[in-house]
Amino acid sequence: YTAKATHSGHHVYRGTDDTHGEDRLHLLEELRLALVDDQLVMHYQPKIDLKTGDVCGVEALVRWNHPTRGLLQPDDFLGLVEESGLMHAMTEIVLRKALDQAATWTGQGRTLTMAVNMSPSSLIDTVLPERISAMLASRGLSPALLVLEITEDFLLSDRERARSILTRLQATGIRISIDDFGTGYSSLAYLRDLPIDELKLDKSFIIPMKDDPRATALVVSTIDMAHSLGLRMVAEGVEDTTAYSELIGFGCDVAQGFLMSHPVPAAELEDWFATRALDGSALGQVSG
Ligand code: C2E
Ligand code: MG
Ligand code: MG
Ligand code: MG
Repeated sequence: YTAKATHSGHHVYRGTDDTHGEDRLHLLEELRLALVDDQLVMHYQPKIDLKTGDVCGVEALVRWNHPTRGLLQPDDFLGLVEESGLMHAMTEIVLRKALDQAATWTGQGRTLTMAVNMSPSSLIDTVLPERISAMLASRGLSPALLVLEITEDFLLSDRERARSILTRLQATGIRISIDDFGTGYSSLAYLRDLPIDELKLDKSFIIPMKDDPRATALVVSTIDMAHSLGLRMVAEGVEDTTAYSELIGFGCDVAQGFLMSHPVPAAELEDWFATRALDGSALGQVSG
């Protein structure tokens, strides 16, 4: 790894650069320290139920609050985490933080699903279902509140192993969502007999809807096919009110995107909840 300056002046880590032993060792030390020193923080982005306009859940997205480089985004450091073999440790931390937050909100009478992103390497952990069950039970949380967002590459690497892992996870009562759907090589036909609950259509389909009718056509047909397979459809990357209203018309179940809120710290999201409760027009009611 080498540290690279970005336009923002931050240094980011890219696994693709020439690796100099000393640099790599240094970055690895920083990352190890980040894990033990609690430098990872979770931001949360709300999801809106398009049938009711209510907030139905949040997605937990990790950031690294680096002591000198500022707040780093997942794209800046997940490669390093993966390549240094620390993904299991990071996933454990992320799950703990997200479930602690879910327990806090549940305790406040706020029923929200908590979605956590899982790398393929984390899912291979054979005791993951038991670990997650124990983490939920110790917080008194219903398994139905937890959604694991997984990507298509996990499904495609070894179909039978993926099926058995997902079956065990689903049997605990948690839900499985396919993230970035449409960007990989899997088809709905391929997903048909896998134990999954939800598809998240990638933002690269939603964002172009505003100026490309073909993008819209793909969104419409994907929603219809997902429903015919009994899957819930979530649209990510909802950035404008037109897309939001159109998705309601197309029967999409859930929307997530910058239009409603960027991913923000829990305290900021609580302010957003409060503002939204006061101002009935603050989205969800967009369709009128
Ligand atoms: P993802 O799970 O597909 O998350 C959605 C990404 O899109 C997030 O970027 C989010 O900030 C961004 N996004 C949300 N709404 C909009 C929108 O309306 N427009 C646009 N243009 N973008 C939007 P982020 O937070 O940088 O995360 C990037 C990726 O990093 C995630 O993609 C996920 O694959 C991964 N990731 C994030 N947190 C974790 C984690 O805790 N564990 C693991 N294994 N991966 C994570
Ligand atoms: Mg980002
Ligand atoms: Mg996700
Ligand atoms: Mg995604």
